[in-house]
Amino acid sequence: MKDSNFLKENNARRLWHPMSHPAESLANPPDIIVEAEGVEIIDVDGHRMVDAVGGLWNVNLGYSCQPVKDAIAAQLNRLPYYSIFRGTTNDNVIELAEMLAGFFAPDGLSRAFYTSGGSDGVEVALRLARQYHKIRGEAGKVKFLSLKKGYHGTHTLGASVNGNANFRTQYEPLMPGCFHTPAPYTYRNPFNESDPARLAQLCLAAIEDEIRFQDPSTIAAFIMEPVLGAGGVIPPHESFMPGVRALCSKYGILLIADEVITAFGRTGSWSGSRHWGVQPDLLVSAKAITNGYFPFGVVMVADAVAEVFEGDATGKGAIGSGYTYSGHPVGAAAAIACLKETERQQVHLNAGARGDQLFSGLQALMARHQVIGDVRGGHGLMCALELVSDRASKAPIDKKTIGKVHRATYEAGVMIRVSGNNIILSPPLVVTKADVARILSALDAGFASL
Ligand code: PMP
Repeated sequence: MKDSNFLKENNARRLWHPMSHPAESLANPPDIIVEAEGVEIIDVDGHRMVDAVGGLWNVNLGYSCQPVKDAIAAQLNRLPYYSIFRGTTNDNVIELAEMLAGFFAPDGLSRAFYTSGGSDGVEVALRLARQYHKIRGEAGKVKFLSLKKGYHGTHTLGASVNGNANFRTQYEPLMPGCFHTPAPYTYRNPFNESDPARLAQLCLAAIEDEIRFQDPSTIAAFIMEPVLGAGGVIPPHESFMPGVRALCSKYGILLIADEVITAFGRTGSWSGSRHWGVQPDLLVSAKAITNGYFPFGVVMVADAVAEVFEGDATGKGAIGSGYTYSGHPVGAAAAIACLKETERQQVHLNAGARGDQLFSGLQALMARHQVIGDVRGGHGLMCALELVSDRASKAPIDKKTIGKVHRATYEAGVMIRVSGNNIILSPPLVVTKADVARILSALDAGFASL
């Protein structure tokens, strides 16, 4: 490894970081992480921290998951690559598809289409939704609905259904035919409604109103995250996703669950859809499918949708989507090992218990620190703190102050993620009670530094 000075000097000068302003990376050079062990990461200066970000919501089993590492190494030696485009396949993708079929929903999502990540998966799912209606002779069903505050990756279709202006404005015009409805975000919403159950009903009414306004015969799909993640961890009321499912069924619209974050135990259930007892028509996942050790993604297809493609005799069912790295044998080997470990360790149960500990600890922090305007969580290890400069007006805190909390928490031994005026916490699902206590006390120190 190059020495610390070389790395610090050349990083911001030589590379552009995703989701960062190049000027900001020059002014505030990023932290250089060089090692990891268990749930901890170590920076280039030897500073050791609990990773309360879990990589990027993906290192669910921590950094020392030997079975996944071994599976990757063994696969590299046996078959490092072969494509699964028409005419060839590999043994791993078949075994993995069999495992995935039972994982996400009580029944009925039994076909897997592989991608190289989450944005690719969203793109594929939206394309499949349009294609599904075309095969069935409803070529006019092309529009997409999604939630404001939702995040669906950065490809053009994904950005078009994205509900955050930061990921849209500089890239407009995006795809026409994409419309957004209010998120069930109790802290800020156009209805001024803070009761989750009542807000869910208002948001569902707004969706139905939009469906009627657009005309259901023009709408292909509704895409949503079961718990909104990058938008600031927004867990809807339990009636919301079942309500969206009911509306989609009523109006012949496909429901796409974007479970890039919520699958594989993050919410305390095997998937976010299971968490709410909903069966989507298409389900996208990625990230923790390989514990973050290899880029990989999947779109699971419900049987009723799959049968339309498989029963097509006109040629319209041919899938014109696919990536060089769709079904990469090394990624699939990593995913098989990862799923086995996820199941063996029953990590969703720990995510539920430690998630409750984290959520109640954050609520206690809110009582001590005025800058915390809202605490969100309660569904596994996905939590957020929304920071404000004034609780009454809910004015978002400035960048400099939240940056100070970030730095002080880092110094106190915990890596957190800052997104806008939110602090997002998504530690590995294998964190212990003591790890969560460390996260809470470092955050306490972070806020005390203000
Ligand atoms: N959908 C959701 C819900 C996500 O959280 C993300 C990534 N954070 C994506 C899609 C895009 O996934 P990727 O970064 O792997 O392309």
